Amino acid sequence: MKEMELCETLLQMTKTAIEWNMVTGTNGNFSIKDKDSGVIYITPTRLDYRIMQPEDIVRVYPDEHAEGTREPSNEWRLHKKIYEQIPDVRAIAHTHSPYATAFAALNMSIPAVLTETVMAFGGRIHVAQFALPGTEELGVAAVEHLREQNVCLLAHHGVVAVGADAFEALETAMNVEIAAQSTHLALQIAQPKTLPHDAQTWLKNKYRENRKK
Ligand SMILES: [Zn+2]
Repeated sequence: MKEMELCETLLQMTKTAIEWNMVTGTNGNFSIKDKDSGVIYITPTRLDYRIMQPEDIVRVYPDEHAEGTREPSNEWRLHKKIYEQIPDVRAIAHTHSPYATAFAALNMSIPAVLTETVMAFGGRIHVAQFALPGTEELGVAAVEHLREQNVCLLAHHGVVAVGADAFEALETAMNVEIAAQSTHLALQIAQPKTLPHDAQTWLKNKYRENRKK
């Protein structure tokens, strides 16, 4: 993909995130990795998504120097660590979407009480060990879960979702938010029961089959 095309795809990712109510203002951050050069195209820090232009996108090189008219997102180390450790990842969506972040605030995984949660994520959505924002340690903590599952919660912080392309990463972040919302509502009514064991096995197999595609 050409440089301008990468920037425009990334910008489209942010616009879709706004449309889906995944981010507001400047919170969260998004990136795409160019598989040929290894350069990470990432949203800049402290710039409202609504006014962001392709030329505002920052490039972070494998040697960690950044190029662009702005500074990269404060979470560029989180993104870099994930790309380094999981080579299949081509795009990352980090959001503070409210329902999933509520579970993260409690350091609580999202339980697999919906068939869709198991089919889409293989089981409960885990919480990575706490690390401070902006640190490489946050990336290390996330990678521990992202090797097994394409999303995890960041303790007391938010969500990080990965994908083979921008849309996949964003859609995963969105599906986590929907799962968190429905699970939250269910928890207001009663304590949800776990899915029958054989149903879990069947759904997990579906999840594995889908991941191989
Ligand atoms: Zn964040």
